[in-house]
Amino acid sequence: MPFWMFILLFIVLFCQAAWIFNDASKRGENKWIWGFFGLLNVPTNLIVYLIVTRCFAKSIPCKTCGKKIKNDFKFCPHCGDINNGYKK
Ligand SMILES: [Zn+2]
Repeated sequence: MPFWMFILLFIVLFCQAAWIFNDASKRGENKWIWGFFGLLNVPTNLIVYLIVTRCFAKSIPCKTCGKKIKNDFKFCPHCGDINNGYKK
């Protein structure tokens, strides 16, 4: 593998990991585990992350903005309401 490809791969992996880290923290998932997971492989791990967080998560509509959010969210990622959707 040429050196520039190695650098490019690293940049892509880093961007993916950063995006997953940010998304996981918004969703109340374990961002460190998911962020590390995102560094390992591209694009398979991104797809796995999206499937796990989107399809296996039960979603409920936000009381304020009505957008679908996971029922164990600590806050709504759309409108930022801290109590919305938080299962007590
Ligand atoms: Zn909302």
